Amino acid sequence: MKYKLTEMTSNHKLTSGEKLKLVSATTSSWITCSKHCPMHSKCYAKRGHQALHAKKVTEGSRGYDLDKLLKEISELRPNSLLRLNVSGDLPSVTYKNDERKISTDALTKLLIATQDARAKAFTYTHLHSDPKHKEYNLAVVKEWSTENFVINVSAENSRTAAKLYFNGHDVALTNTKLFNFAVDQEINQGRKATLTTKEGTVELFPCPHSYKESNCNQCRECSKHNRENIVVFKET
Ligand code: SF4
Repeated sequence: MKYKLTEMTSNHKLTSGEKLKLVSATTSSWITCSKHCPMHSKCYAKRGHQALHAKKVTEGSRGYDLDKLLKEISELRPNSLLRLNVSGDLPSVTYKNDERKISTDALTKLLIATQDARAKAFTYTHLHSDPKHKEYNLAVVKEWSTENFVINVSAENSRTAAKLYFNGHDVALTNTKLFNFAVDQEINQGRKATLTTKEGTVELFPCPHSYKESNCNQCRECSKHNRENIVVFKET
């Protein structure tokens, strides 16, 4: 079970390919993902350079254990932007079966390491896809996600996304139709798109990396805690 920190990542989405001293990313073995994740076979990170890197980390020819990852994170330059798990998901208590129940012990250690580094960390999780531990995992995410350690909950349909948002989560929705709608509203109508469900109305924030020259380091929307919007991605 391995992890790898890439300091000064050249990940295109994070930095548009530039190696910046203050932008880093981690990769976790694919085994950290839930097999129930709806994006399991079509995850964006299963293509291109990141896919090769994640394969090596998963097979064990690259990377190291959690303790070394924690040490490396804690030694990052102060004020680094840290994208956790470009591939992979949050740490679970066991990988002996297909259940994925978040390890609060490992998550706390990750939080402390990012605080030691004074880094701004953000990530996304699909571990609420686990049928048995769904509610537990959502409760852990809500409790552990905090300023400078933001855990976005990923969703693929608007009703689920809105429900998660009104339950107090920071949410990332992958939905090409809504993404296109939000971009059209912003570019052609000059206003923010909204999503209305029985729970209420929430603004949509289309990821600017996908429609204009921007990257996470410039944008940073997904690293904001308690956002008043849902970030929307298009399927890639
Ligand atoms: S919305 Fe911003 S921070 Fe989030 S993935 Fe897109 S570019 Fe990165």
